[in-house]
Amino acid sequence: MANSEESLLACHDCDLLVRKPRLRTREKVVCSRCGAVLYSHKPDSVGRALNFSLASLIVFVLANAYPLLAFKLQGQVQLCDLISGVKELYRQGYWELAVLVFSVSILTPFLKITSLLYVLLPLRFNRRPWRLAYVFRCVETLHPWAMTEVFLLGIIVAIVKLRDIAIIVTGVGLYSFVALIVLMAAADAALEPHDIWEQVEVER
Ligand SMILES: [Zn+2]
Repeated sequence: MANSEESLLACHDCDLLVRKPRLRTREKVVCSRCGAVLYSHKPDSVGRALNFSLASLIVFVLANAYPLLAFKLQGQVQLCDLISGVKELYRQGYWELAVLVFSVSILTPFLKITSLLYVLLPLRFNRRPWRLAYVFRCVETLHPWAMTEVFLLGIIVAIVKLRDIAIIVTGVGLYSFVALIVLMAAADAALEPHDIWEQVEVER
């Protein structure tokens, strides 16, 4: 193992500096002081995260374009899509809640997917996007705010509560929304952030 192939990693938990050796597939670097995982070698991290992000963008569009649910109550059919819950909250005067729901279920996932694509797409073709460090820091900041799972939980609760009084038909939007949650999690799992930060170092 040549020294030039080693770089230093700082532990995000205890700040210990650890030498990063060349790893084989699925090997990890663990902090010798606190045991935190600092880096794990994920094969084709950028390429796989890019594929999952592109698929996320497609299902995001579908989840917004098609109804999540249809309610049939006393002969009337009401369609419910992703934005209609936000509109309803706003209409009833809960505008702060409407902004929050819009942010965590629509805006943040959209920003996260598009900024991740902005980072990954050029890197996949060995180009470095403009302001890579800044945009990738935004991706990492947005991460905890994309609470699509919480929104899904809300939909499930609504279905359970309303199923006795109305006929509920699940729509393409709902399946797309579930696929969005799975694909965004898959993109996160495929990506090793350290691989991106290494490109930032090259830039400097
Ligand atoms: Zn540590």
